[in-house]
Amino acid sequence: MAKLLPCPFCGCEVELIDYTNRVYGFWDYKIKCKKCRAYMDSPSTAIVSGFTEGAFKQTRNEETKQKAMHELIIIWNTRASKKGRAK
Ligand SMILES: [Zn+2]
Repeated sequence: MAKLLPCPFCGCEVELIDYTNRVYGFWDYKIKCKKCRAYMDSPSTAIVSGFTEGAFKQTRNEETKQKAMHELIIIWNTRASKKGRAK
């Protein structure tokens, strides 16, 4: 797994948490700061397939899991590094 940059707000360590069991059909991950509670959700692209019978359905397999996690990490790291440069 790619390394996570520290929190852009307080500089503390962050962790990736799996909330997938709480929702239907999505891979659902959050990156959360261990100190100030800043967090980021999985991007919408973690939803892989369409709308079926009133609920989003996603093929949950190792490929889409890695994709969902990877995209979240990339977005987090992008935000974290931009914040750092802005200071
Ligand atoms: Zn923080």
